Amino acid sequence: MNTLPPLPAGIELIALTKQYAAGSVAVDSINLRIASGSYCCLLGPSGCGKSTTLRMIAGHETTSSGDILLENRNITHLPAAGRGTAMMFQSFALFPHLSALDNVAFSLKMKGVAKDERHRQAQDLLERVAMGHLAQRKPGELSGGQQQRVALARALITQPRVLLLDEPLSALDPFLRIQMRAELRRWQKELGLTFIHVTHSQEEAMALADTMVVMNHGRIEQVGPPHEVYNRPATEFVARFMGGHNVLDTTQGKVAVRNDHIHLAPLANGESGWPATVHDVEYQGTYVLLGLRLDNGQTGENISVMLPEASFAQRPYAPGDQVSMTWAAWQAHSFPPSPAA
Ligand code: ADP
Ligand code: MG
Repeated sequence: MNTLPPLPAGIELIALTKQYAAGSVAVDSINLRIASGSYCCLLGPSGCGKSTTLRMIAGHETTSSGDILLENRNITHLPAAGRGTAMMFQSFALFPHLSALDNVAFSLKMKGVAKDERHRQAQDLLERVAMGHLAQRKPGELSGGQQQRVALARALITQPRVLLLDEPLSALDPFLRIQMRAELRRWQKELGLTFIHVTHSQEEAMALADTMVVMNHGRIEQVGPPHEVYNRPATEFVARFMGGHNVLDTTQGKVAVRNDHIHLAPLANGESGWPATVHDVEYQGTYVLLGLRLDNGQTGENISVMLPEASFAQRPYAPGDQVSMTWAAWQAHSFPPSPAA
């Protein structure tokens, strides 16, 4: 048995709780260990407590109870500036009237660092994110990608151990968002820092995270690498929230089946599958997405099935077609019994 103490987590949350004065519990006694040097995404629907959790880690929000450790140091009650964390905000929040250099140097100026020294450090950091040659430009004279790098340099000037990002990409157009997330991931690996990134986008979390933390109503539903969360959703909530799954009520209980793991055949006598009727056909390029309704009396549940374009071309379906659905038993995932609430 391994008796060595575990490596210090980048961030450890212990029974962390936030109850706002008048409201209900926004973050409900969560426990979480985030490996040092990893990219962690907090994911969940609006209002589930992601930003509150991040703000408590940053020291921008007090805790109601519980503890926050940064590399084994209890930072729960330290001021924001003394924690070893830094925050990067939505749409980067750069000062429009300051040059890139002065944006990056800003927090050193607040600390009273002399001009030459703060400019030297800011210039170093801008070089590091390949922005040294644009140090004199103002944010309005920079592309979205360049602004992101300035925002990153500005957060890094305090030499944080952990970078906190609250929906940093959500104000960008979809094309830029995909470019910027690739860049964030690259910088995280290169810098070797712990990143904790809040998003409501499953796609963004899957693209970025080493570890995904799926939250709902102030609690953690599942923690794991993206492929594990996607392929083995621990709860019905996670299966539905991640998308790409159907939750089916079988005789063995509810199961999740990925929508590309369901096979369709024209309904014929003696067919062993579940009968359903096609009500919607959507061409999506690589795939065709079919919307189905079950014919067995289970109402209210829309089933989605993704067929590769080539197989749809070979055997097309149209609204009104009756089909039989089958799936391999090993591709149906039941949910472990949930711990008593
Ligand atoms: P998310 O970032 O996941 O969308 P938040 O952490 O912002 O969620 O909010 C979690 C819950 O706490 C929500 O119900 C929200 O209305 C509530 N909340 C957030 N900030 C405050 C606040 N300053 N005062 C009172 N309630 C708040
Ligand atoms: Mg939020």
